[in-house]
Amino acid sequence: MKRAASQQVLGMMAQAASMGKWHSTHKMCSQCGKPTELAEAGYRRDCPSCSAQHFPRTDPAVIMLITHGDKCLMGRPYHLMENVYTTLAGFVEPGETFEDAVRREVFEEAGVKVGTVKYVASQPWPFPSNIMIGFHGEALTTDLNIDYEEMQDCQWFSKEETLKMLQGEAESGLICPPDISIAHHLIKKFIEEQ
Ligand SMILES: [Zn+2]
Repeated sequence: MKRAASQQVLGMMAQAASMGKWHSTHKMCSQCGKPTELAEAGYRRDCPSCSAQHFPRTDPAVIMLITHGDKCLMGRPYHLMENVYTTLAGFVEPGETFEDAVRREVFEEAGVKVGTVKYVASQPWPFPSNIMIGFHGEALTTDLNIDYEEMQDCQWFSKEETLKMLQGEAESGLICPPDISIAHHLIKKFIEEQ
């Protein structure tokens, strides 16, 4: 119950942040450069000069826990705290399916080839207007070839170690993201599966 309420509040906050940002950056028409006007209770901006209608956008990003047997692949991007390891993630490119984006991002960031990709859940991510689409993917290879421009590190972790990291009890001091994030739930689902 508490979780459902907090998810609802987070959804509302994401909506407000995303819409506010969109209005503040779309005062001018991207087609003719003239000022636009608010329409449809704020869900559209119309251009009186060229009649173009502009709608708020949501950009898809994929976030995925890649597994191989009872191991999972997690990494640490540079913007995270030193001891946090999390799921890999990246933006969907034009012309790409979500599944292809998962496979491309994992290969680019960690050098691992991914086969089957299954949808798990999604989460609005208003920085500024993204939707994180969460997947589980099965690795076909395990050798790492890390892109150090993007990632500080990537590692395979056993289910046992991952559980301790999720609970903040790993001897290594490493942890996973908190339960407010979809990454946490992707990791938790893998641990709970037999
Ligand atoms: Zn216009």
